[in-house]
Amino acid sequence: MHATVTVSKRGEERVASGHPWIYRTDVAAVTADAGSIVSVRNARGRVLGQALFSDRSQITLRMLTRGESPADRALLRRRLEAAIAFRHRLNVNASAFRLVHGEADLLPSLVVDRYGDYLVLQTLSQGMDALTPTIVELLNELVAPKGILARNDPRARLLEGLEQRVDVLSGDVPPTVPVHELGVRYDVDVWHGQKTGLFLDQRENRAAAAGYATGRLLDCFSYNGGFALALAGHVREAMAFDISEDAVERIGHNATRNGVAIDARVGNVFDELRGLERLRERFDTIVLDPPAFAKTRASVPKAVTGYKEINLRALKLLNPGGTLVTCSCSYHVDEAMLGEILYEAAVDAQIPVSVVEKRMQGRDHPVLLGVPETYYLKCFILRKLA
Ligand code: SAH
Repeated sequence: MHATVTVSKRGEERVASGHPWIYRTDVAAVTADAGSIVSVRNARGRVLGQALFSDRSQITLRMLTRGESPADRALLRRRLEAAIAFRHRLNVNASAFRLVHGEADLLPSLVVDRYGDYLVLQTLSQGMDALTPTIVELLNELVAPKGILARNDPRARLLEGLEQRVDVLSGDVPPTVPVHELGVRYDVDVWHGQKTGLFLDQRENRAAAAGYATGRLLDCFSYNGGFALALAGHVREAMAFDISEDAVERIGHNATRNGVAIDARVGNVFDELRGLERLRERFDTIVLDPPAFAKTRASVPKAVTGYKEINLRALKLLNPGGTLVTCSCSYHVDEAMLGEILYEAAVDAQIPVSVVEKRMQGRDHPVLLGVPETYYLKCFILRKLA
């Protein structure tokens, strides 16, 4: 029998709303194997579409198609082709960027990043994981990379009952891959680096920030130095902090490779900002790009306190006229909340601040309208007025 999942009235409404995720609580009956492609039906047996089925996750269904149209190899090929063609039209100033951004490319739970001649992919649901051989075949046809690496080590895979693992799926993948972004050259460790190696979603925010950078720069939560390297050519002096020794070592390596000077230090930004304040240090440009402080809804209050503290201290460390580039990648702290936090920090610091730009993740990581979960990265560019 053809695999079928029957959804409740509420599940049917959710499908109609265009949201690709149907939760377990909206599922009435299942006749399907884990990770299979299923027909989604309403209580009267009408087919609403085809979906990826998970027997473990709270997200039971990830919709692939609407109505009767089949979710087959040809569909995957068309979706991949469209995603890739769109990225080429973006004309990004980088050889590393996202080719496929899951839900927003109608390929739920699939991530494909391009690093020069190589692809790095992640399959984050049972159903997408099961499609890996087809995806790899299609990517080889469409992109012909030298190698494809599966960075399937995100913890999210555990919710699907999938293993965390890293495998070469095709060709060979070297320990580091040379890429460039905004004129900066990187050797990326696609095997072990955070995410798939670089924070590709910040490329356009780095470019925007470079337009304001002057004087003395402080790059907090610097990782491999993404912001510091993009801004180094615009400032007199650059200092960067990250808590990871590995990351700071890479900032040094990247700075040398690009012929720029960055004073990169290992440190906890919360302590370092306090220390800099005590020493009465001042900066003209500050970047705050912390990890997601709110990974769950329950952790929002604590996250808000954290965001407020670093923004308050950064505002105090800025010279009048200086620029604060401040980000949050916590989906649970939305743009309005972040705006509120920044306002409270400004009030506490008694500093007048203007919002110069409100930004989000780069265009190669688009947001699917009506699916707030796909809008995770916020970036405000602020100016300290006095
Ligand atoms: N700005 C970077 C990406 C930052 S990701 C870029 O453009 O590429 C967040 C970074 O914050 C990680 O590298 C992590 O090691 C670091 N980090 C996490 N908590 C920290 C803390 N308390 N102090 C300093 N760095 C921290």
